[in-house]
Amino acid sequence: MSVVYLNGEYLPLDQAKISVMDRGFLFADGVYEVIPAYGGLLLRMQEHMQRLQNSLDAIRLQNPLSNQQWQEIIEKLLSDNPNAGPGEDKYVYLQVTRGVAAKRNHGFPEEIKQTVFVMVNELPPVDKDELRAGVAAITLDDIRWKACNVKSISLLGNILLRQQAHDNNSAEAILINEGLVTEGAASNVFAVFDGVMVTPPTGSRLLPGITRDLVIELAAGNNIPYEERDFTEQELLTASEIWFTSSTKEILPVVELNGKPVANGQSGPIWEKMIDIYQAYKVKLRSGETS
Ligand code: PMP
Repeated sequence: MSVVYLNGEYLPLDQAKISVMDRGFLFADGVYEVIPAYGGLLLRMQEHMQRLQNSLDAIRLQNPLSNQQWQEIIEKLLSDNPNAGPGEDKYVYLQVTRGVAAKRNHGFPEEIKQTVFVMVNELPPVDKDELRAGVAAITLDDIRWKACNVKSISLLGNILLRQQAHDNNSAEAILINEGLVTEGAASNVFAVFDGVMVTPPTGSRLLPGITRDLVIELAAGNNIPYEERDFTEQELLTASEIWFTSSTKEILPVVELNGKPVANGQSGPIWEKMIDIYQAYKVKLRSGETS
């Protein structure tokens, strides 16, 4: 049984309980983060803490903990859960809600005591050969709200879109907002046009993925041409490569889109370069050379 953190206590998972009056339960009134830990070392902790702060600011909720306190809780959970899985990699899930209110009322309660929950789970190793096989995706109308940059626990839109992809034998959906590609249901989207790696710019239409930013940074440092710009669904259909990025998927090629092969139906040469660079970065992280 894994040990989790809930409101100041470290507990076995099955003893961690919250009130049914928690606004996270009643309204999905909260935000979250997912942080990978490779060999016990956290990937881009500062960036995750900044994104958490941005999400909290956007929903007008005070951060209940300092970055130092977050770090201490996470490090304790990582060391208290040595057997979270067969591999040495884990991911940290943390969530902050607007806490328990006496009555179910949309407006904020006068006194707020945030609910803080943190757990660690196994992060199965990502095998390059398995990744290379790629996945199928479909394009779907982005039915979500207008603040997709907030990492909200209200994921109903994302869940329905992901399930619609699964119902169509696809691993993930590529979301289209007014003709433009935004992101996946739980990932960011990259495409390659004329040898240039392209991803939509950050803003309210998509989550600023930590993996997305890292892939851009690594491309810049390795002379891989890239652009952050919008592109349409029509343009996407002409891409020579399409990938999803996320903390848990890393960089996942899309080899079939809407039932048709992407280019020749195989992962492409730029993906091949990027995944090697990304995995080399992880090796450096594990040895403590970077964060
Ligand atoms: N977009 C959405 C909607 C997501 O849920 C996620 C994370 N699961 C991402 C993008 C990728 O973010 P990250 O690289 O920080 O995991």
